[in-house]
Amino acid sequence: MSYQSRMLGYDVVIIGAGASGLFCALTAARRGLSVAVFDHNAQTGKKLKVTGGGRCNFGNTHVGPENFLCANPHFCVSALSRFGTLTFKEFLEQNGLSSVEQDHGQLFCREGAVSVAELLDRLCRQAGVHFYMDVRIKNIERTEEFRVTYPGGTVPGRNLVVAAGGLAWPQVGSSCFGYGVAETFGMELVEPRPALTPLNFGPGWQMSTLSGIAVPARVSFGSASFEDALLFTHKGLSGPSILQISNYWQPGKPISINLVPNVSPEEVINKARTTKSQVKTILSRLFPARLAASVVPPEMGAKPVAQLRKEEAAWLVKRLTAWEVTPKELAGYKKAEVTAGGVDTKAISSKTMESLAAPNLYFIGEVMDVTGQLGGYNLHWAWASAFAAGQSFKLPG
Ligand SMILES: Cc1cc2nc3c(=O)[nH]c(=O)nc-3n(C[C@H](O)[C@H](O)[C@H](O)COP(=O)(O)OP(=O)(O)OC[C@H]3O[C@@H](n4cnc5c(N)ncnc54)[C@H](O)[C@@H]3O)c2cc1C
Repeated sequence: MSYQSRMLGYDVVIIGAGASGLFCALTAARRGLSVAVFDHNAQTGKKLKVTGGGRCNFGNTHVGPENFLCANPHFCVSALSRFGTLTFKEFLEQNGLSSVEQDHGQLFCREGAVSVAELLDRLCRQAGVHFYMDVRIKNIERTEEFRVTYPGGTVPGRNLVVAAGGLAWPQVGSSCFGYGVAETFGMELVEPRPALTPLNFGPGWQMSTLSGIAVPARVSFGSASFEDALLFTHKGLSGPSILQISNYWQPGKPISINLVPNVSPEEVINKARTTKSQVKTILSRLFPARLAASVVPPEMGAKPVAQLRKEEAAWLVKRLTAWEVTPKELAGYKKAEVTAGGVDTKAISSKTMESLAAPNLYFIGEVMDVTGQLGGYNLHWAWASAFAAGQSFKLPG
């Protein structure tokens, strides 16, 4: 089949053997289509293997369009509605892997991310998918069909799927290749930027000594608001709540942090007014010692709560519940879990992922301008968009 397919061309040629490329290849091959997958990495699913800290947060018990950022907010509705929240969980179970649900509905694979990647690789090979790994693509052109040229030859394909991902985590082979293909075929880009990333505050970051401290917090920017752990770092802030807000933050503007999302500071202050406690004493009950000492200036920390003037108490409440800080910048692609922006969806069919500008050309996964929140949504999008495309290719003849 290898020789014949190469001569006659494949039904589907996919660029990228990551989460979306593998799932699309499997979906199409199981429908009887001949499929080739190219990747410049030597192994398939390299990024997939490090997801969820090696545990693969492959989905979420609640997935809706509101969990995604896209210049065209309704774009992902169709693909999501045809790939249920538990479809991938069931797929894993049918193939001998199991899952566990954790906070915020996050679904992880019990056997780990490597098992998920290996499963997809094995099933693709069993279904007859041909892999062209460790390959540098020299050129993609289109005559009647697509022709992918690499140092070993030229591979023709009736349909071309760009599943080359975004720029996040270049250490596992991320590249701008997919954006280049899109532009070659007349597609527009929404400017890519790092997302789900820590926030840096520049050289004057006054909290650098708190590096390593984590607290629960509610972090807000505009109408976006997330309650989860916040981590102080040498360069700024990180942790799930900060990664979430990084998707929404706009440079030059402050984020607002509630450091006591589960406590009423007014109540704490009023109770302490009847005691001899100092401000720093009540703070040390709320926070780790190093953080408690940094939340307010030393003069206020030393003041007995009973002696706080009304304005001082109001300032303290605001400091605890609406601390405003302005990040200098997003931490960058090396630390980002995903790339926001990408191939503009206005020229892509939301049902099939096919380009409206170039028939038989498809975009799936992170390369497109669809960015999920933290919690399994990006992998869910990889599966859902891959499935939409994989189901839609016309059968030959
Ligand atoms: C550290 C980390 C942890 C993450 N954890 C989670 C998680 O737990 N849950 C979640 O939902 N999301 C997670 N994500 C995000 C998720 O991994 C991605 O959104 C998802 O992998 C995107 O799938 P994709 O197929 O679009 O791209 P990828 O999985 O990145 O695959 C793209 C493929 O294209 C190949 N490629 C790129 N350029 C070329 C080229 N020039 N030639 C040939 N091949 C090329 C790459 O080598 C790669 O194999 C995480 C991301 C990171 C970095």
